[in-house]
Amino acid sequence: MNRRNHFTQAIRVANFSTIKFPADFRLDMDSTDVAAIVRQIRRYADLPYVFVVSEDQVDRVRAVLVALGAMRSPCYPHAIFHLSDAAPDIDAPQVEMIRLASSEPGAVSEKIDAYAADRLRFDESRLRLGNAGQPPQQVDVVIVGGGITGLYAASRFQQSGISFCILEKRDRIGGIWSMYANATSRVNTSEAAYRLIEPQLRSNRDHSATKEILEDMTELAASVSDGVFLETEVTRIEKTNHQQYQIHYTRGEKAAVIRSKGVILAINDRVGTPREAAWDNLSAYRGRIVSGISDKAQGVDWHDKSVVIVGMGAFAIENARTALEGGASHVTVVCRRHGTVCPKIIDYLNFATPYDEAFKHDKKSNIRNMMYWKKTYEISGATQPECWMGKVKHEGHTISVSDIWFVGHFLKKIETVTGEITGMFENGVIVNGERRVDADIVVNCIGFERNHSIAKQLSGYTEMTNINYVDRNFMYLADAYIDDDAFNSFFGSSVLEMAKFYMEVFISAFDSPLYDEIMATPGIERVTLTDRRWSQYIAGAMALVNRFQDLRDVAQRQVARRTDNFLEKHDLVTYIEENKREWIDLHAMLAGKPLAEDECMPYVFERLLPR
Ligand SMILES: Cc1cc2nc3c(=O)[nH]c(=O)nc-3n(C[C@H](O)[C@H](O)[C@H](O)COP(=O)(O)OP(=O)(O)OC[C@H]3O[C@@H](n4cnc5c(N)ncnc54)[C@H](O)[C@@H]3O)c2cc1C
Repeated sequence: MNRRNHFTQAIRVANFSTIKFPADFRLDMDSTDVAAIVRQIRRYADLPYVFVVSEDQVDRVRAVLVALGAMRSPCYPHAIFHLSDAAPDIDAPQVEMIRLASSEPGAVSEKIDAYAADRLRFDESRLRLGNAGQPPQQVDVVIVGGGITGLYAASRFQQSGISFCILEKRDRIGGIWSMYANATSRVNTSEAAYRLIEPQLRSNRDHSATKEILEDMTELAASVSDGVFLETEVTRIEKTNHQQYQIHYTRGEKAAVIRSKGVILAINDRVGTPREAAWDNLSAYRGRIVSGISDKAQGVDWHDKSVVIVGMGAFAIENARTALEGGASHVTVVCRRHGTVCPKIIDYLNFATPYDEAFKHDKKSNIRNMMYWKKTYEISGATQPECWMGKVKHEGHTISVSDIWFVGHFLKKIETVTGEITGMFENGVIVNGERRVDADIVVNCIGFERNHSIAKQLSGYTEMTNINYVDRNFMYLADAYIDDDAFNSFFGSSVLEMAKFYMEVFISAFDSPLYDEIMATPGIERVTLTDRRWSQYIAGAMALVNRFQDLRDVAQRQVARRTDNFLEKHDLVTYIEENKREWIDLHAMLAGKPLAEDECMPYVFERLLPR
C-alpha cells in the first residue's frame, strides 16, 4: 500500500490519454461530459495537478481549463504533458507545456516524477530578495519585520501611495514560515481565510502547504522588493518632538537612523524562540529524539516505528500526522492537557456560515456545529479537552485542524497520555515518574517562548490600545496571546484576517485627524504592551465598526470577499464530497488496505447537506 497520501508532497495526474502509465495519483478522465470531469477533478483538490493530454483530447481539455480557471480552482494544472511535436493549441496562462518524447508508460511516469520533484521543492534562496543599497533616510512608514504581516502591510502601502521600507533582521523574508515551518506543515486555517494573494487563476489548496505560503510571500515581496532591506536589525524606536519617529538600526557593522511619520511593528508577539526540553537520563535512551520544527525530522524513517510526540499544540498534531503518513505503527501524544482539535469541516463551516450585523454566527449554527464536533470526538474515541464544554479550548492554546486525528483514534493508531516526561529509559519515555511508554522515535513539540517583551525593549512603551495602536501612526500589528474569546470574531482564527482589517484602519487614519476621533471612541482601552490578547483586538475592532460606518463597510467587504472565496472554491456540497473522499482515503492509508465505507468511522457530516 502506498504510504504517500493526499497530504504529502505529491502530484495528481489527470490523464486525458489512453496511456496507462504507473502513477500513485492518476485519475483517468473517461467521461466526455466536461461538467462531470470538472466535478471529478474538484473532488481531488488536495494535490497539485498536472494533465497528460493526447491530441484528440485537446478540445475537451480546453473546455475543462476554462471552467477551472473561472472558479480559480486549485485544480488548475501546473503543467500539461503532450505527445505532439508542437505544443497543443491551448491558451493556458501559468501552465507549462511539456513534450513527452515517448508514449511508453514508464517513460511518461519518469518525466512526470522528475517534474514533480522539481516543482514541489521550494528553493529557500528565493526568499533572499531585497534592496542591496542603503535604506532611505526618511519614509512615511517603517515596517519592522519581513514576515507575512510586514509584507502584507508593505503591499497595502504601495497600493495606497504611502512610502515605506521593511527592515528585516534575517537574511531572508518569510518570518516564522521560513524559520520554523516544516515542508510538511500546513496552515491550520482554511485557505480562503489565510489568502495573501488573490490569484487570477489558481488559488492555493485548502490548508495550504508551506511551499504555497512561501511562494505567495516571494511573489508579494518581489513587488515591494525595492523597499525591503535584509540583515537590518531595528535596535530602537524613538519618538521625536515633531510627531515623527526615529528608527535606529544596524546593518552589518553600520548603525544608522531612519526618520518616519509612522511605524508598523510586525514582529510576532506570540511565537518567539522554541522552548528547550530538559529530560533526565537522556543517555539511557537508545532511540532517536528529533525536534518537530524547522524540518529537523526530515528524512526520518517512520515506517513501523512507535512514536511519542511531546506536546499537543499545532506542531504536535502536525508531527502526529507526518508520522502516521510515513507509516508509523503507533503514535502516543504525551501532553499536560488536551489541546483542542477540530475536524476540517468545522473550520470550513466557521468561515462559510454567514455573519449577522454584529459579526456573529447565529446560535443555531453554532450549536449544530458544536454537536457534530462533539460527536466526532465520541465516535473516534479521542479525548475531549478538559475545558469542554465550558470553554472551547484552554487559555493560551490554539485549535488544531485535523481529520487524521479522529480517524487515527478510531483505528487505534493514536492515543494521548496526560502527564509530563520526567525522564527516559532504554526503550522510551517515563511519564510522571512512573508510566513507561515505548518509543522508537521521540518528537519534541513543546512549543515556543513568547516574544512579548521585545516590543517594549525596542520602543520603551509599556502600554498601547486594544486597537493595536501604540501611539499616533504607530501600530504593533502581530499575533497576540490566544485567550478564550479568540475565535469568536470576524477574523475567524486567522492572524492575516486581523492584519487585513487593522491595515485599513491604519491607512484611513494615517497622518489624519481621524486618528483623534478613533482614540475618542468608546470601547478603545489601554492595555499592557507585553500582555496583548486576541480578545482585546477583537473588542477594539468591534468598537470601531460600531462607531465608524466606513470601517463597518471595510469589515463587511472583507468578510463578504472571504465568504465568496470560500464558496467559489467549494460550496458545502462540493466540500462534503471532497472531504468525505479524503476521509475514506485516510482510513485506507492508516489501515494499509482499502476499507469499505461501513468499516470506516461514520462520516456524519453528510447530514449537513441541504435537503
Ligand atoms: C506552520 C504554521 C502554521 C500556522 N498556521 C496559522 C493559521 O492557521 N492561522 C493563523 O492565524 N496563524 C498561523 N500561524 C501563526 C503565524 O504566527 C502567523 O500566521 C504569521 O505567520 C505571523 O507572521 P508575522 O509576520 O506577524 O510574524 P513572523 O513571521 O514571526 O515575522 C516577524 C519578522 O520580524 C523579524 N524581526 C523581529 N525582530 C526584528 C528586529 N528587531 N528588526 C528587524 N526585524 C525583526 C523576524 O526576523 C521575522 O522575520 C502558523 C504558523 C506556522 C509556522
